[in-house]
Amino acid sequence: MNNQAILVQQQRMATAIQMIRYEARTRTIRLATKLTEDQIRRLYRQARVMGAAVATRHRGRSPTQALQYTRNFAVQLEASILASVLTKHAMLRGRREKPWLSNSLHYAQRFCVAYGEYVPLAQQQPLNFEQAWHFARTLAARSELYLQRCTRCASHFVRDTSTILHGQCPFCRLREQLPRSR
Ligand SMILES: [Zn+2]
Repeated sequence: MNNQAILVQQQRMATAIQMIRYEARTRTIRLATKLTEDQIRRLYRQARVMGAAVATRHRGRSPTQALQYTRNFAVQLEASILASVLTKHAMLRGRREKPWLSNSLHYAQRFCVAYGEYVPLAQQQPLNFEQAWHFARTLAARSELYLQRCTRCASHFVRDTSTILHGQCPFCRLREQLPRSR
């Protein structure tokens, strides 16, 4: 391997380790980093030996329903917070056509940074990594989910294209729920 190839391989491993810490599914890691299942398994074992907070790998199906992000106020709020972080990182638009479909290492690296920023901003229960990963792609595709600008508070929040009667903006609602300052 030449230097360039070694560097890319190191970046792949670093991104995979980050994704393992975030409890991404093996398949997601494999597609994003192009590492083999075996290499990922080895990294997973290493991460555990190193004492990282690695939970059991998620083997279940990835969330695929767009409606899960708008099903109730709490989730809609979390999704909207994540959307604002993704917007800040310019991950919802790309010069390339359908950048969200490319399983590129670069995308995964940027996504890990954005997800790391999102988690401490979450109000209650942050979307887990797999949900966030799927959400980012679904929102970027703009077929099932879109961002709406609130006419009252000017925040952007997530809506789905299949619901006819929409509820209130989650940020306005959050503000109303907070105890009023005296
Ligand atoms: Zn609002």
